[in-house]
Amino acid sequence: MNEQPNTFDPASLASDYLGEAATLLAHDEPFPGGAVVPPIYQTSLFTFANYADMADTFAGRRKQPIYSRGDNPTVMEFEKRVAALEGAEAARGFSSGMAAISATVLAFVGAGERMVAVRNCYGDAYRLFERLFPRLHIKVDYVDGADPDAVAAALPGARLLYLESPTSMMFELQDLEHLTRLAKEQGIVTTIDNSWATPVFQKPISHGVDLVLHSASKYLSGHSDTVAGVVAGSAAHIKHINEQTYSQLGGKLSPFEGWLLLRGLRTLPLRLPHHMKSGLTIAERLKAHGKVERVNHPAYSNHPGKKTLAGYAGLFSFEVTEDVDIPAFVDALKFFRIGVSWGGHESLVVPAKASLEQTPGINSMARFGVSPRTIRFNVGLENVEDLWADIAQAFDKSKK
Ligand SMILES: *Cc1c(COP(=O)(O)O)cnc(C)c1O
Repeated sequence: MNEQPNTFDPASLASDYLGEAATLLAHDEPFPGGAVVPPIYQTSLFTFANYADMADTFAGRRKQPIYSRGDNPTVMEFEKRVAALEGAEAARGFSSGMAAISATVLAFVGAGERMVAVRNCYGDAYRLFERLFPRLHIKVDYVDGADPDAVAAALPGARLLYLESPTSMMFELQDLEHLTRLAKEQGIVTTIDNSWATPVFQKPISHGVDLVLHSASKYLSGHSDTVAGVVAGSAAHIKHINEQTYSQLGGKLSPFEGWLLLRGLRTLPLRLPHHMKSGLTIAERLKAHGKVERVNHPAYSNHPGKKTLAGYAGLFSFEVTEDVDIPAFVDALKFFRIGVSWGGHESLVVPAKASLEQTPGINSMARFGVSPRTIRFNVGLENVEDLWADIAQAFDKSKK
């Protein structure tokens, strides 16, 4: 391999790297009746024994869930674990990654204000910023997050800095320590979408980021059976989100999906090293393949943003040579199924060519010059030699 990751060997135990948080994933105080798995509190509301309990709970003198649009005990177990994994004081679950992103950003940025976002951020975050935000009179400036001077120039007067390292589709890195220092000097809140690295490979709070966002639909769930989101940060920031947007916008996480996420999280430290190893194996072979012009994988970057990554997820993209018939290549793949999302057990392929035709005019990939010859792979948990044989035969069938 050209450049081995220097801090995490996939053969080592991710649970060692995660420390106490890994123990919390596998071990907890027994739940009611001695159960090792929490019950699914499939209830909309929680009653009070008497007037005084209700009054004390409403006044904040006593803690008890009131209504599941606010708190639910199954969801709270998920939130507790994500907070521990991210080294945060608190976390809040949401019905989707986009619910977490919209509620978080709108809690800190209002009408007449401005925020700065990295270009090539997740497509629907971009569409939120481009479609709804102009109607709310919120201005978003996009920057090349790899360039700290560009970020520094855009920051003055902004309320929020929106990071995603690595970015969607292009996998460009940002120097979290440098950028959060710039933002802190001006009292600007920083958020990062950490869905790709997960806390197994990147802990942004320890590098100065205020709030960590996840599409929990991806690696945190890991089984392609849930759409969910979460944000983690300081107790004060999460309280602000609770008060400003969470309860009122109403994008809460359901107890059953919270339970599925708890189940998925238990194997997070086992899954990520496997995705890393298989992903790097395939990236290396693609890099050496005559039909591949470049591989967009953070392992091949020399950017300082790499220093906060302890390892690499199994999602990356590559650009094929002009003589590759992309639709034929995609159709010839057998183990890489054609579909959006990622982070589950199954390998997936997304050709940028098709995505570029989505929502013309408000497509960040089109705007920021993503090549139509880019193809994204989600490398799943299948046998890596089966995956490679599949790719090799698909290239053979895709000559123009
Ligand atoms: C999927 C995704 C999201 C959105 O999450 P949903 O759970 O689908 O709402 C946000 N960020 C990234 C990087 C994603 O891949």
